[in-house]
Amino acid sequence: MTEELISRAARDILQAKKVVALTGAGMSVESNIAPFRGKGGIWEKYDPVEYAYIDVLIRNPGKTWILLSEMQKEILKAKPNPGHVSLAELERLGHLSSIITQNVDGLHHEAGNKNIIEFHGNHRDAYCMECSKRIKAEMISLESLPPRCECGGVIRPDVVFFGEAIPHQALTQSHQEARSCNVMLVIGTSAEVQPAASLPDIAKSHGAIIIEINIEATAFTGYTSSYFIKGKAGEILPQIVALVKSASANPAA
Ligand code: NAD
Ligand code: ZN
Repeated sequence: MTEELISRAARDILQAKKVVALTGAGMSVESNIAPFRGKGGIWEKYDPVEYAYIDVLIRNPGKTWILLSEMQKEILKAKPNPGHVSLAELERLGHLSSIITQNVDGLHHEAGNKNIIEFHGNHRDAYCMECSKRIKAEMISLESLPPRCECGGVIRPDVVFFGEAIPHQALTQSHQEARSCNVMLVIGTSAEVQPAASLPDIAKSHGAIIIEINIEATAFTGYTSSYFIKGKAGEILPQIVALVKSASANPAA
């Protein structure tokens, strides 16, 4: 059953003029970065209302940085997994136009993808909330929280907190990609964080096939998704891309 769906996904990708991927935290679980929701998720330990809203960062940055420092350590240690590597291969083969990612770990860049829309920013970049000076995450000392700039201002990662707007360019570009694709791969995302969760519906209403890959069903499954491939991104994607690659090498076969 899963094998049939994997072949179907490869066929749909090969026939499409434009393929776009939407990725979420599940994409990086096999790189040992915890997702927010579900088993082992960050929300089991930290209530988002208490830690991840922009007003908490402003009022009590030391508290928000308890969560941020954990994420930062995980992200700086992480390496792309076979799922990331497969999406980079798909782009090189000319069968992936762009990735819209909700992830802030920079692993799609590290895997080699070129056309990436970072919907929620990137945790590897940070800046001072007073003087705007930019700093790379690996240069930030986490010895005393919150980390501070030499001007005394609090440093924050360049990510979108709850209560903040999505960067305008990321929003317009991703809507454009959703409207114009023939296939959208929806990988490891819980369908619960808006406005990213509306992108598959936009794609579908413009005629795209929605292929969902996740270890468990989501609110997309059976509704927005044209079909659902149950499994780990790092196991399903390499199989799909291997089929696309062999068909691209032997077009008559
Ligand atoms: P989420 O945490 O809400 O959901 C993760 C989804 O991934 C779930 O549906 C789960 O079933 C699925 N999943 C788990 N392991 C998987 C695997 N191996 N293969 C395929 N699917 C798997 O994630 P979200 O919907 O992306 O939204 C949460 C927000 O949290 C994001 O916007 C992002 O900004 C942020 N976040 C980012 C990271 C990161 O950068 N890696 C990590 C945690 C949270
Ligand atoms: Zn400063």
